[in-house]
Amino acid sequence: MSLLTTTVGSFPKPPYLTKARAQHARGDLTHDQLRPLEERATKEWIAFQEDLRIDILVDGEQYRGDMATYFAENLDGCEVSGLVRSYGNRYYKKPVVVGELARPGAITVDWWRWTRGLTEKPLKGMLTGPYTMMDWSFDEHYGSREELALAFAKVLHQEARDLERAGAKVIQVDEPALSARTDELDLVVKALGVVTRGLSAKTITHTCYGNYDRVFPYFNKLPVDQIDLEMSNSGLDLLGRFRREPLKKEIAFGVIDVHTHVVETEAQVRERIERALETFEPAQLYIDPDCGLKTRTVEEAQAKLRVMVAATRATKDARGLE
Ligand SMILES: [Zn+2]
Repeated sequence: MSLLTTTVGSFPKPPYLTKARAQHARGDLTHDQLRPLEERATKEWIAFQEDLRIDILVDGEQYRGDMATYFAENLDGCEVSGLVRSYGNRYYKKPVVVGELARPGAITVDWWRWTRGLTEKPLKGMLTGPYTMMDWSFDEHYGSREELALAFAKVLHQEARDLERAGAKVIQVDEPALSARTDELDLVVKALGVVTRGLSAKTITHTCYGNYDRVFPYFNKLPVDQIDLEMSNSGLDLLGRFRREPLKKEIAFGVIDVHTHVVETEAQVRERIERALETFEPAQLYIDPDCGLKTRTVEEAQAKLRVMVAATRATKDARGLE
């Protein structure tokens, strides 16, 4: 098996679901009325991935809002702030840690199990990593970034164990904040190690937006089986460094830029895959988009994924790869 295809996690929500979520936020729609629409959107995304014959599926996170507040809402000791201004006129909500963190029950397992019932293909379990949860939260309780990251790690480990018990063979722990403070990379490794300790599932960390140059020496130290990297948005500029300092684990290599409306051509994506194959072994190399696709429209995301899969298939055929 080589050049397996997958995606990073989130897919865009169809307009009927975006509308229903807004109604729910205003109190005009109950949770019980929202859920069937989340299920419908999830079913549609699973069917799309199966039709394309993507190898490792995701549920598309149709029931999640923000990747950090989704977990915050489901933990004891954690609340969610009102809208906070980030930059320009963008507002978002932040987790607020007000007490000792604890997990009253499984957070993602119910959706994972429900979605698993729709497909025979491997389905990723998806967690937001402890370092990112810490970095994106207001801390009113722990008073130490390390203690807070490790407290998140402890509850996320419980969640990972529950996913594994439910049957998840692949568990992804997203750390988009990985390179937020390059003096804390040892803490990233330590906290991630708490989450993945003792798991038999394949573990993945996705990261993006980073100063990868400073992070690079840590890729081999991250306690996961696979790293999932944004590569295309930066023009594949890390490839040279990977050739000099080989990666001793699997890589999911982003061949689709998620920040642009423009749909890549098959030839463009094929060239990116060919360049990746100059550095990585086919069995070590997974093909996916740079990041989650939730910021694109459904049509853009689907068009981009079609090109990704077609380019991967063409590369495999040309090289006689299974
Ligand atoms: Zn990302």
